Amino acid sequence: MAVKFQDYYELLGITRSASDKEIKAAYRKMARKWHPDLHPSAEKKEAEEKFKRVNEAYEVLKDPEKRSRYDHLGSRWKNGQDFQAPPDMDGARFYSANDVGSGSFEDGFSDFFNMFFSGGAGSRPSRGGRTVHRGPVRGEDLESEIELTLEEAYQGVTQSLRISGRSACAACGGAGVRDRSFCAQCGGTGAVTNEKTLDVKVPAGVKEGIRIRLKGQGGESTGGAPKGDLFLKVRLRSHPVFKLKGSDIEIDTTIRPDQAVLGDRIPVQTLDGQVNVKVPAGSRSGSKLRLKGKGFPANKSTRGDQYIRLVIDTPPNPSEAEKELYKKLHELRKSGK
Ligand SMILES: [Zn+2]
Repeated sequence: MAVKFQDYYELLGITRSASDKEIKAAYRKMARKWHPDLHPSAEKKEAEEKFKRVNEAYEVLKDPEKRSRYDHLGSRWKNGQDFQAPPDMDGARFYSANDVGSGSFEDGFSDFFNMFFSGGAGSRPSRGGRTVHRGPVRGEDLESEIELTLEEAYQGVTQSLRISGRSACAACGGAGVRDRSFCAQCGGTGAVTNEKTLDVKVPAGVKEGIRIRLKGQGGESTGGAPKGDLFLKVRLRSHPVFKLKGSDIEIDTTIRPDQAVLGDRIPVQTLDGQVNVKVPAGSRSGSKLRLKGKGFPANKSTRGDQYIRLVIDTPPNPSEAEKELYKKLHELRKSGK
């Protein structure tokens, strides 16, 4: 029986030396191009035929065994040409479901396909009895970010997080094709976007850049294999007051000239709340006071320090009485007393 030759490489627009990756990419491109839903009704029929042929081409070229059998036919055949099976081909492979005339398609596949690659209807298991098994595949690990204030990172927090990530489509196992047509679940892309809201418990003392692992919250698996994990990379939001330098915290504190000269006790913000700090008499602008162990956790048992940088500034609205005293100070300085 003569059938019409199908040029699978031409159908996918690739060369005979295309890699598996190129074949897959070409298939996805062509399947999208010819998807019947994307064409107006006048073109639907043609798109449908093309779509079936593209799927058929992929069915053969994605499978190394089928591809090598196909390649064995040689490159002299042209698409649509009357084709007679060569006598050296394995007889068991030759099969036609019924003696349909060449050019008509049975069950979505061409006669050419049915003759070589199928038991008449469908491709799995093949005429040779070989069933393609896809073993269980563990879900992909996903990565996302979680943004925390310095206080949240210090104390720990439970944060509601909306997670979205791409993972292999469980319905088609990432192939993009199911039951010989476009996988409806993933639109033929082989991947799906997962969105979910998670209550994430962030332990106290997490640092910028560390990854929190949420077991089993990653990509879907197939065949009962474990799901992937979700890794959340910690980002610390910049703080209006605290500057984090390693495990130390630095803050700027403004004091008045009289406080600098005479010394004072001033309130200072720390991660543990407000404390009173002694400013020594004769403090200079830019000098630093250290609060030992009031920084960020360096490890489980130790913490960095907090540094208070003194900035001496003039009081914004001095009263008349204050101005009188400054005048007096000024004259005393001038006269050298
Ligand atoms: Zn799918």
